[in-house]
Amino acid sequence: MDAYKYLFGPVPSRRYGRSLGVDLAVPKTCTLDCRFCQLGATPHATLTRVDTPPMDAILAELRRWLEQAGRKEEGEGVDFITASGSGEPTLHLRFGDLFRFVRAETPCRSLLLSNGSLFYLPEVRCDAALADVVKLSLHAWDQTSFERVARPHPALRFDAILDGYRAFRQSFTGRLDLEVFIIPGLNDREDQVRRIAELAHGFAPDAITLNTAVRPPADRAISACPPERLHALSALFGTAVRESGAEPPHASGELSEEALIALVGRHPMALGVLAATFGRSDDDLRAFIEPLARQGRLRLFESQGTLFAGGCGM
Ligand code: SF4
Repeated sequence: MDAYKYLFGPVPSRRYGRSLGVDLAVPKTCTLDCRFCQLGATPHATLTRVDTPPMDAILAELRRWLEQAGRKEEGEGVDFITASGSGEPTLHLRFGDLFRFVRAETPCRSLLLSNGSLFYLPEVRCDAALADVVKLSLHAWDQTSFERVARPHPALRFDAILDGYRAFRQSFTGRLDLEVFIIPGLNDREDQVRRIAELAHGFAPDAITLNTAVRPPADRAISACPPERLHALSALFGTAVRESGAEPPHASGELSEEALIALVGRHPMALGVLAATFGRSDDDLRAFIEPLARQGRLRLFESQGTLFAGGCGM
């Protein structure tokens, strides 16, 4: 992939196939400071919605991407164009324009990956409804547990967010997915997960995914929920649940320094998965990536016995 400032990937995903990421919150800007965040700590949680990065520049990059090699017709095998990246995309005042653009000018579907914390705002729900698929998060069951897991901006109210989820479900005709992040010692007791499941059923997501810390978290004291425990807890949600794990490898196009740095800066990945993602052997990938780490353009680090590549700002 050519050098882009706001686009990254395509990222291989178990749920969404090949997803071209559009970063609407760079550098990391978020309403929360989740203890499991794979992008490191949030410098200052904020609720201030802004018009940066400039939407016109973001859409200009997308146009350039589409024009390269006739991607406009084929979408380069990309399934989704996804609002995500280094923080919470709904903090961008014009995030809805991205979905309007995808619908009008590309053959791809659009996806919003949101922590949902601004869904108490009608204008955010209105623009989110322009996406084909919306994935929201729910890792807590009340204000106290919300604060413990997600360390939100102090003005955020858990009940108001849940009201927003219910209102969104009433009007949204696309697919609504929910991610529940399970952290041992914080929200993995059966009674706690039962309460999350009850709240989730109140707004009827089309699919629920249980996830855990498969990548290095912001708070190094937290650990991954073992797969068998995750599987047992998934039974509390009913039949729509899928447990998540490491993402499957898909060929992700040409390996270039820019593509690699843009990808791991937003989405830290294990070296073995990266090698498969770019269709390279482990040795080839290592030979390519180690000079970039020595130059300080990305970072190699070990977590739970696995070597990862991530951005330098983490
Ligand atoms: S996990 Fe997502 S919502 Fe939580 S701090 Fe990181 S970017 Fe923000």
